[in-house]
Amino acid sequence: MSIQSDEKERICAYAGCARTFEGRKDKIYCSDQCRNAAGRNKKKVARWEEPEHFGQINRIIMRNYQILKRLYNETGTPLKNWQLSDEGFEFKFMTGIYRVDEGIDIFMCYEYGWYQLPDNKVRIYIVPPLFLTGMATVTNRTK
Ligand SMILES: [Zn+2]
Repeated sequence: MSIQSDEKERICAYAGCARTFEGRKDKIYCSDQCRNAAGRNKKKVARWEEPEHFGQINRIIMRNYQILKRLYNETGTPLKNWQLSDEGFEFKFMTGIYRVDEGIDIFMCYEYGWYQLPDNKVRIYIVPPLFLTGMATVTNRTK
């Protein structure tokens, strides 16, 4: 059996250094510079690393988009809400609201959107992306 010592050769925990050094057991960086550099990196990761739920929400919105695209018909025939739900559509997830008129809001998933009609029916619309981003506006709307 060997005698345990508090002084032990270790490897600097800062990946950019990884030098071996001697020091106290609780010391994980070889120097203050390395400790600071590691701290800065950790902050960067916290700021830029996308949280897991971003991906989950994005996937729901993408699925909604694909369902709207698939079920869209040019005649504007209304669909039943369950026809969307059965495909996995989530009515609470959207990318924005496109206001056609006072009280007429289309819930958008990118350029496809749905308008809620009475009796649990919906009508699917396409709104050109330029309108969504406000880079173009409707000028000659007919009543
Ligand atoms: Zn170091």
